[in-house]
Amino acid sequence: MFIGHFGLALGAKTAQPRVSLGTLFLAAQFADLLWPTLLLLGLERVAIQPGITHMTPLNFEHYPISHSLLLQLVWGAALGLGYGLLRRNWRGAALVALLVPSHWLLDLLMHRPDLPLFPGHSPLLGLGLWNHPLAAQLLEAVTFFGGLASYLRHTAARNKAGVYALWSLVAFLLLIQVGNLLGPAPTSVTALAWAGQLQWLIVLWGYWADRNRAAVPAKAPAALPQLAP
Ligand SMILES: [Zn+2]
Repeated sequence: MFIGHFGLALGAKTAQPRVSLGTLFLAAQFADLLWPTLLLLGLERVAIQPGITHMTPLNFEHYPISHSLLLQLVWGAALGLGYGLLRRNWRGAALVALLVPSHWLLDLLMHRPDLPLFPGHSPLLGLGLWNHPLAAQLLEAVTFFGGLASYLRHTAARNKAGVYALWSLVAFLLLIQVGNLLGPAPTSVTALAWAGQLQWLIVLWGYWADRNRAAVPAKAPAALPQLAP
C-alpha cells in the first residue's frame, strides 16, 4: 500500500488538529521511510521478481526492523514519546504512537504472507489483496480520498501557499501511485531504495502545506431562541 497510508494520516488530522500533517505523514509512513535506508545498509532484503503478485514485483524477503508488528509498536512508542516531550501535547503523542503501527495493519491487507509479527522465527502474515487489483485499488482510493475529504473539511487555506502546497502534494502522491501501478519494475534494489528516499520530501511537503492552513473550529451549536423574560 502506498497512497492509503497518506490517506489515513490526512484523516487523522481531525482527531488532533494541533499535530502537523508532516508529523502525521512521518508516523503513518514511518516503516516505509525507514526501509530504504535499511536496504542500503544491507540490514533488510527485497528481491525484484515480476509476477510475484499481480500488482507489485517486490518480494519482501526480510524486513523485521521496519515491518514487524512488534518493532512498529516500539517505533510508534518512541516517536510518540519524542513528539510528546517536544510539543507537550500528549494526546497528539498518543495519536502519533498509534499511527506508526497502523502501517502494519494496512500492509497486512495488501501483502502476500510476508509480514512478521516480531524479528526472528515469526509466522508471516498477509491477506494478499495485491493479487486482486480492483479491490486493492478501491481500498487505497477510498482511504486516500476519504482522508483528503476530511482534511479539507477541517482545515482552510490561510493564504495562496495553503492551496498550492496541498494540491501539488495531492497531485504528486497520485502521480507516484499511478507510476507504481503502470511503470516498469525497478531496475535494481539500489535504484528502488534511492527512489524510496524521495518520500522524505513528502513529509516536508506535508509540513509546508499544513503550516499554510488553519484548523477550522467545529461549528458552535445554533443559538437557542431568546425566551421573553
Ligand atoms: Zn510498508
